[in-house]
Amino acid sequence: RFIAFEGGDGVGKSTQVRLLADYLRGKQHEVVVTHEPGDSRIGAQVRSVVLDGGELDARAEALLFAADRADHVASVISPALARGASVLTDRYVDSSIAYQGVGRALGVSSVAALSEFATEGLRPDLTVLLDLDPAQRRLRLEQLGQFDRIEREPDEIHDQIRRAFLELAGAAPERYLVLDASRAADELAVDIAAAVEELVAS
Ligand code: C5P
Repeated sequence: RFIAFEGGDGVGKSTQVRLLADYLRGKQHEVVVTHEPGDSRIGAQVRSVVLDGGELDARAEALLFAADRADHVASVISPALARGASVLTDRYVDSSIAYQGVGRALGVSSVAALSEFATEGLRPDLTVLLDLDPAQRRLRLEQLGQFDRIEREPDEIHDQIRRAFLELAGAAPERYLVLDASRAADELAVDIAAAVEELVAS
């Protein structure tokens, strides 16, 4: 099974990826944990260019993320799925639609088309969207001390990004689990494990 974790920065995606991986491994499933941008061979280089803090044209940025994703699918995700492993990815196509399509105003349909090309249409069986209210988000990021490039964008952009994620989930509710990320991590993990069990049984 292919499961993506999406949501803004600081919502707790990596914690939930880890907890679900532990849960599935406890049930003797082979699990591959991965992450965008950056977990494939060219991905690490793309990440350093995209996130080095220098000025970068929005289209160039979107194409670099798409190149990372194409390499990520071809070299990490598809081979793992082909041998029957479960793949958990921290960010996937929805992040590009939300950040580049909406956050950088390139348009949802252009970025969706670019991602379709990059992934050859490979879609997650389930996307877990960790949704966090804007005030909570800022508080968490301050606590984490994490202020990457896009975090310096105004709050308004982050509200748009959050709404973009929610709209994607709303358009295909059967493929999404939307959770309030301000809940306790262990409670969220229980809900996620239950949804994954349901998916595996289907
Ligand atoms: O998930 P992670 O924290 O590694 O992401 C690194 C940065 O890349 C974050 O600031 C995130 O907002 C940004 N990003 C982006 N567009 C994507 C994926 C991530 O701007 N498609």
